[in-house]
Amino acid sequence: MIPGGQLMFTTEVENYPGFPEGVTGMQMMADFREQAVRFETRVITEDVTEVDFSVRPFLLTTSGGTEIESDTVIIATGANAKWIGLDNEERLAQSGGGVSACAVCDGALPHFRNQVIAIVGGGDTAMEDALYMAKFAKEVVVVHRRDTLRASNIMRDRAFAEEKIRFEWNQNVVDVLGDDVITAVRLKDTVTGEERELEVGGLFVAIGHDPNTGFLGGQVALKDNGFVETATSWRTATSIPGVFAAGDVMDDFYKQAVTAAGTGCMAALEAERWLAEGGHGDSGAQADSAQAESESA
Ligand code: NAP
Repeated sequence: MIPGGQLMFTTEVENYPGFPEGVTGMQMMADFREQAVRFETRVITEDVTEVDFSVRPFLLTTSGGTEIESDTVIIATGANAKWIGLDNEERLAQSGGGVSACAVCDGALPHFRNQVIAIVGGGDTAMEDALYMAKFAKEVVVVHRRDTLRASNIMRDRAFAEEKIRFEWNQNVVDVLGDDVITAVRLKDTVTGEERELEVGGLFVAIGHDPNTGFLGGQVALKDNGFVETATSWRTATSIPGVFAAGDVMDDFYKQAVTAAGTGCMAALEAERWLAEGGHGDSGAQADSAQAESESA
């Protein structure tokens, strides 16, 4: 991931309060960083590759070999794009053969111009990718496994209004064809089981994201779907007292920039309280008792 995360790959952010005209994801991330630095945040631009939460202070090791000791940690590592899981999808994505999981990063490349482009998915990312690719492509075909979209009404309406975009409903992509460059996708009807080929010059996979938790080495409890488990849905304390989680790495439901910022604020407040208590409070237990109180009320 590049610093700034998924919003660096988003064109216009339309649903963040305070921006009546929208704002680009890149601009928003630059502004967030500048604001944090104004309050004396030190930014170290390296990947954290390893953590040791069994020692106090906690120990983080980065890709550059830097070791950072910390009394509290907020995990806010976000999520990465998912793939369908087809051999030819992976091969052509790795070789630059016209398969990608990020239209905003790769869509403007010359080999996608005036082509028929397939977008897989039915959420906001798929609509956003379809609208973006409509600027360059001859035609954009959204391939969705159901006959209704998951996308928000505003994104759906925009996609429906764009004459270059059409939809293939109830279809799964079951193979990607082409030696060096994609030439077609094989579609399978989820209702009838019928298979056929659709000739395309590009494929963008927009089917959601997996949380970035690998570097935690299993030290923090995760939910069955891989997102970081928090003590309750309205607290950010994890299974390790003093370690908190915010944003898309723990949120498998809302997944919005504004909710990520909100949980970031919650985690900061909880971490601050943790430090004020001398780092000895059991924040997980606190959250549990808050839940018990609320349930008994
Ligand atoms: P999402 O909402 O989880 O949608 C994923 C889509 O991919 C769904 O339509 C899903 O189908 C489909 N899908 C999942 N796995 C699949 C598979 N293996 N094969 C085929 N299709 C598959 O993910 P998202 O679109 O990335 O959006 C994530 C969050 O970010 C959402 O809350 C969204 O509102 C937000 N977002 C907002 C904006 C914006 O406002 N500008 C832009 C992008 C994202 P089903 O519908 O059948 O489950």
